Amino acid sequence: MSEEMKKEQIFIVRCGETALKGMNKPYFERMLADRIKKLLKRLGDISVKRHEGLIFVRADSQIDEKLILKEISKVFGVASISPAAECESTMEAIGKTAVDYMKKVIDDRGIKTFKVEAKRADKNFPVKSPDIGRQIGAAVLKGCGVLKVDVHNPDCLLYVDVRHGKSYVYQDKIPGFGGLPLGTNGKGLSLLSGGIDSPVATWMMAKRGMMIEAVHFHSYPYTSQRAQEKVEELAGLLAVYCGRFRLHVINLLPVQEKIVENCPEEETTILVRRFMMRIGEKIAKNTGCGMLITGENLGQVASQTAEALCVTDASVSIPVMRPLIGLDKVDIMDKAQEIGTYEVSIRPYEDCCTVFLPKHPVTKPKLDKILASESRLDCEALIDRAVESEEVIDIYPA
Ligand code: ATP
Ligand code: MG
Repeated sequence: MSEEMKKEQIFIVRCGETALKGMNKPYFERMLADRIKKLLKRLGDISVKRHEGLIFVRADSQIDEKLILKEISKVFGVASISPAAECESTMEAIGKTAVDYMKKVIDDRGIKTFKVEAKRADKNFPVKSPDIGRQIGAAVLKGCGVLKVDVHNPDCLLYVDVRHGKSYVYQDKIPGFGGLPLGTNGKGLSLLSGGIDSPVATWMMAKRGMMIEAVHFHSYPYTSQRAQEKVEELAGLLAVYCGRFRLHVINLLPVQEKIVENCPEEETTILVRRFMMRIGEKIAKNTGCGMLITGENLGQVASQTAEALCVTDASVSIPVMRPLIGLDKVDIMDKAQEIGTYEVSIRPYEDCCTVFLPKHPVTKPKLDKILASESRLDCEALIDRAVESEEVIDIYPA
């Protein structure tokens, strides 16, 4: 092995569902590799190449392995990652590499038993997989001295992957989030509040490959500047996964005041929600977003009963994605913890929905009654004015 090779660390990245996409497979893999390349660029000298359905990342050994793993594991479309050792595809080279590799694992983790899992992607390789396993196992036993084989419950599974020309030895398969590469599934406008739900909903759509843009409504001065900063912070946490994106900030207060002046109190919430949707639809059309995304969840609050969701839906003609619709609150909270938005979401700032909250909101609104109430308002003008007054903020990964 040359000095040059020794200075390199290698990561095998497995594409999740991307591998199932038939004719589109190269496209998905290219999008995934591009995204990984983009994220790793700032860490230093790193190459990202596709080969036989896998992505190989090669990095200068000076770069922190943990940092590289952390970056790659945030990329949607990644099923798993393995830091690996590479060698020529000969039994001798594989045996030697496996021994060196296991010596390091013994030092790092104090393992006592192991088992080899061998696989040949190169079917012309003269030794069959079970024999590769046995022979490399014997080489490791001999070379490391202190280990035993345990085929049922080993401390360490040593994978040997024999490919054309080169082979790989590795131990960990660090799971990624799966999903599909960003940019492979259109663009959606997410209605982003400062709550727990909408950041998770946004993340879930981005995980399926959707590019994101977001809108946030406030009711300044009833809601504070701090409440908006909280949303910007949440957006920054989401941008870690879905890349830099635009946040449209809208003052909803003029709309809310007109509703409160002219419409029945118990309808306030549902009417406000319909306006949010329509303002969102307009922004979506201006920005090339094909759908809206909300954190709504069946039955969670009065405005999310089956009837209320129908009346909300009827306000717009573009599709509304509600990826959390069937989840329980605890599951949504777990997800928020996992993706890192929970702590910010639970900070107690007011939301525009809590301004002018009716004492007894309708839980089974009727569309014709709601339309009759809206006929007392100049909806188009209110929506246009709201959109015109938007503030646009570019959000960068936190
Ligand atoms: P969240 O935790 O996401 O705030 P929620 O359970 O509090 O959700 P609602 O307040 O009824 O529910 O809001 C439902 C959805 O409407 C939110 O998930 C979000 O998509 C959208 N929404 C609510 N308030 C705002 C806001 N101020 N700005 C943008 N979107 C909002
Ligand atoms: Mg909310």
